[in-house]
Amino acid sequence: MTDRDPTPGPLLEVRDLVVLFDGPAGVARAVDGVSFDIARGETVALVGESGCGKSVTALSLLRLIDRPGRIERGSAIRYDGRDLLDLPEPAMRALRGNRIAMIFQEPATALNPVFSVGDQVAEVARIHDRAARDDAWARAVAMLKRTGIPDATARAHDYPHQLSGGMRQRVMIAMALMMGPTLIIADEPTTALDVTIQAQILDLLRDVQRASGSAVLLITHDLGIVAEMAQRVLVMYGGEIVESAPVRTLFARPAHPYTSGLLRAMPRRGDRRERLDAIPGTVPPATAWPGGCRFRDRCPHAWDKCAAEAPALVQVTPGHAARCHLVAEPRRRIPATAAAPA
Ligand code: SF4
Repeated sequence: MTDRDPTPGPLLEVRDLVVLFDGPAGVARAVDGVSFDIARGETVALVGESGCGKSVTALSLLRLIDRPGRIERGSAIRYDGRDLLDLPEPAMRALRGNRIAMIFQEPATALNPVFSVGDQVAEVARIHDRAARDDAWARAVAMLKRTGIPDATARAHDYPHQLSGGMRQRVMIAMALMMGPTLIIADEPTTALDVTIQAQILDLLRDVQRASGSAVLLITHDLGIVAEMAQRVLVMYGGEIVESAPVRTLFARPAHPYTSGLLRAMPRRGDRRERLDAIPGTVPPATAWPGGCRFRDRCPHAWDKCAAEAPALVQVTPGHAARCHLVAEPRRRIPATAAAPA
């Protein structure tokens, strides 16, 4: 079997992923037993507020967790049948930017300020394909054109600071696509951009994904983006996955109160409310997740069982799971009007 022959089964399998950070306040369990799959060509969104463990999960997939962070023994990440946590570092380096590519939130810091953007895109082909300089440059210019950079032949000579934020994100996407990855991890790819440019970058991501057939793990706090882009959603809170569902099911019938809160806080077209119903309170620190349900201090439905017993991730309907005692005891759910925060 060659490097590019797909193996049967999911493209990515994550099992019991635990990522710990040692710090002065103790050990932070930033990611705490996360499991999920991504099929070939599928777009899966990983959603939650800052501090829920989304970005740490994404960085773990590429083994980019630096000290004082560590991936715990017993975690498993399988990509195309290969165990990434057992792979020697040179083999891992060969995968990064080649079969698995990452698009970061802030291209200004991800790009090197002292090289032209054309050189940086060409470098990907030089490293992974050992392409000759002229060939790599021609491929880089073609890829910059494909991502919609006007006058790409000339702009390839520009340095990152000479481009707008939207153009820099197109350069990052060109770098990510250069080797035809089977998995693209996009971490808040449009957060730093204004609304019009956001829409253009999302359109571009969708187009290239359709054309290339890559799977995408899209990390975002914005459920509006999820509705447009994803087929399946994983909602993270307190380092755990608290709900997982096909996108339509999640929007129509959220089972976890945290997901309902995120949906209420989402601006809608024609919405005239000045203040959206944000979820009261904040995510607790990862060094001190509360016992029982980690969401209970912010949950309008919490009762004594939620403090006494940590809920398991249980099936609601086929393909839909939630980590909440209300799944087994739906009568405990307080009507939304009574439950809405003051
Ligand atoms: Fe709320 Fe209890 Fe469900 Fe946690 S288990 S989300 S506290 S109802």
